[in-house]
Amino acid sequence: MFRIGFGNDTHRLERNKPLILGGVQIESDLGAVGHSDADALLHAVTDAILGALALGDIGSHFSDEDERWKNADSSVFLAETVRLMKEKGFSVVNVDSIINLEKPKLRPHVDKMRENLARSLEIEIDCVSVKAKTGEAVDAVGKREAVKAETVILLEKK
Ligand SMILES: [Zn+2]
Repeated sequence: MFRIGFGNDTHRLERNKPLILGGVQIESDLGAVGHSDADALLHAVTDAILGALALGDIGSHFSDEDERWKNADSSVFLAETVRLMKEKGFSVVNVDSIINLEKPKLRPHVDKMRENLARSLEIEIDCVSVKAKTGEAVDAVGKREAVKAETVILLEKK
């Protein structure tokens, strides 16, 4: 049996904040604001898995009002979600993601993000795609107000 999931996540950008995407800290004058480490890619992937399993969303599992998750490493959310997925007998077939960020260019960091995701999702790196797009200087991404990530994921129960 196959299940498909979709996830999307947005964080506001501000000065003097770290920018972490797919578990990779990226050199940038603007970083992402959030209760946790504000890793939009890991949040979108986590939400996509929860969506595929119809288990609610990331906010219902890891509330941003919970002090435990203040400045949390978002790989903790993903690891717990992968544990839930495996408990239900599913594994990941493949995952595809898009990160929308105006600056800096993410291409040099994409393979490290894919490596981190492959390890967390317990799949081969050639089953993990991360693409980067700019906002063409329009909308919140283009104006450097936000970073967004979108993910689709396919799960299989054997
Ligand atoms: Zn988020």
